[in-house]
Amino acid sequence: MHELSLAQGVLEELEAAARRHAFTRVCSLELEVGVLAGVDLEALRFALDAILPGTLAAAAEVRLIERLAEGTCTSCGHTAPLHDRLQPCPACNALGRRAHGGMALTLGKLEVE
Ligand SMILES: [Zn+2]
Repeated sequence: MHELSLAQGVLEELEAAARRHAFTRVCSLELEVGVLAGVDLEALRFALDAILPGTLAAAAEVRLIERLAEGTCTSCGHTAPLHDRLQPCPACNALGRRAHGGMALTLGKLEVE
């Protein structure tokens, strides 16, 4: 299950940030998940619930935020939000849009003490 390794990566990022900025507890954190990243939010939350107890983020409130991607049409150049790769261009109805963003899992706002 790749959500478990993603959750592990989030924890490692938090620990690295804690060393850099000298905090010991994470109160809340936001995770931005790109809609094209292929991440199952339910599974990610489950994975976080499994690994965060006993860590600096044990009591953290975790907010998962979905980030849309943008797609640029390769036929007419129109750029519009992209929900999945097979969505046709809203301007000319062509398939084949280049996606920007929406493919990563990134750490957003962090509240620490
Ligand atoms: Zn188009």
